[in-house]
Amino acid sequence: MGKVAVGVAVIGAAAVCAAAALIVRHRMRCSSRWARAMAIVRELEEKCGSPEAKLKQVADAMTVEMHAGLASEGGSKLKMLISHVDNLPTGDEEGVYYALDLGGTNFRVLRVELGGKTGGIVSQEFAEASIPPELMVGTSEALFDYIAAELAKFITEEEEKYHPPPGRQRELGFTFSFPVMQNSINSGTLMRWTKGFSIDDMVGNDVVAELSKAMHRQGVDVHVSALVNDTIGTLAGGRFSNKDVAIAVIMGTGTNAAYVERAQAIPKWHGPLPNSGEMVINMEWGNFKSSHLPLTEYDHALDAESLNAGEQVFEKLISGMYLGEILRRVLLRMAEEAAFFGDEVPPKLKTPFVLRTPDMSAMHHDTSADLRVVSNKLKDIFEVSNTTLKTRRAVVELCNIIATRGARLAAAGIFGVLKKMGKDTSTGAEKTVIAMDGGLYEHYTEYRKCLENTLIELLGGDSSSSIAFEHSNDGSGIGAALLAASHSQYRNESS
Ligand code: ADP
Ligand code: MG
Repeated sequence: MGKVAVGVAVIGAAAVCAAAALIVRHRMRCSSRWARAMAIVRELEEKCGSPEAKLKQVADAMTVEMHAGLASEGGSKLKMLISHVDNLPTGDEEGVYYALDLGGTNFRVLRVELGGKTGGIVSQEFAEASIPPELMVGTSEALFDYIAAELAKFITEEEEKYHPPPGRQRELGFTFSFPVMQNSINSGTLMRWTKGFSIDDMVGNDVVAELSKAMHRQGVDVHVSALVNDTIGTLAGGRFSNKDVAIAVIMGTGTNAAYVERAQAIPKWHGPLPNSGEMVINMEWGNFKSSHLPLTEYDHALDAESLNAGEQVFEKLISGMYLGEILRRVLLRMAEEAAFFGDEVPPKLKTPFVLRTPDMSAMHHDTSADLRVVSNKLKDIFEVSNTTLKTRRAVVELCNIIATRGARLAAAGIFGVLKKMGKDTSTGAEKTVIAMDGGLYEHYTEYRKCLENTLIELLGGDSSSSIAFEHSNDGSGIGAALLAASHSQYRNESS
């Protein structure tokens, strides 16, 4: 009896010791895992660093590339495309015009009614649909048929008062936000796809011809008067309401910028000098690349596995399509190398693009004490439950590192454009307004604040008061309609 009791006691003591050893080992393992995870965070932070001096190098590189792209075709990674828009809207335009806006996740059909000199925009109406993913990688016929069918539906449903007078066609501006080599204001060929689109039979084709054929197949009779992209549309829309708008920047699924250049400062322009002396340039700045860009292993891997490896390097650092994906890649490494989400790597974490930027911004903006939004997002997206507060805080920190880098680089890009325009040192009287649009700018508040503050930082005290941002909500579509008005086939007839 006594012996047995002793034996039990011995076994019991041994079990206690073993359990204690296990706990100690578990704690040690946890703390070393955590240290490993934090080392990955710190490494990312260091590699993403964008101090002012570095941003100024990026801005200078942008200015240099702008000059090179304007000097000759193919002179730079920056295409610096001549838009053929040499007359931005004045505000006097009049009549009913349409626009189609294709360039990312959503597609819009819209109509604006312009009231002339004092009337401004009398009315506007739009319909929106998301592009079925299979159409983004199918055939040009399927994509354009879909677009034309949406337009047909919009027109069929509209009130009689918008019908054109007998003998006249409806006119539209087409906002097509991909790199296009423009041949005139209403024709241009697609150079390549971006933002996840990949339709091989379309590259090299005339975008307006494709659209016109599809409209014909769908039985719609509409004349395409202007072919632009979202940046030019936004610039036109911004200028319509504010004379000081001279730059437009899109921060959405992708990113791009356009600005007003002196026609004489475009060596590759061999056409007649426009009366205005000005020409709108579509920079296609998403393709900007410089050795000064703070690239990490995650960026290199993302690029290598993308549909357009080696292209759109700037876009892959700063735009909405990619920010969430960069975050996913960092989290995956932390899960694999530091068991950040426990012993098992959550399988969902391995799916490319499963973490979208709107989810990232929702986590970044989580103000609840226990970071409930972060917890829910991790559960919903990666099926990871029971995360600790410490883990959730680390996720927010990662959001901040990745978004801050993107926003600061975007600001550096704008600073580079201002430098090229000679507007980076102006003070007081002369004002330059930057028309901004895109879902990332609109909804990712931390990103937007950081972008705007960084530009002020780069400009320094005096110049910052002469620069302003203006959110041009859906300016790209309205702007295309405005450009259709200023380039109407009937513009020389008295009405
Ligand atoms: P597109 O660029 O596709 O023409 P938008 O300008 O509407 O369309 O931008 C959509 C993009 O904006 C999305 O792909 C996403 O990356 C980003 N976005 C949308 N909503 C949010 C949000 N709440 N937070 C952060 N980014 C967002
Ligand atoms: Mg858009």
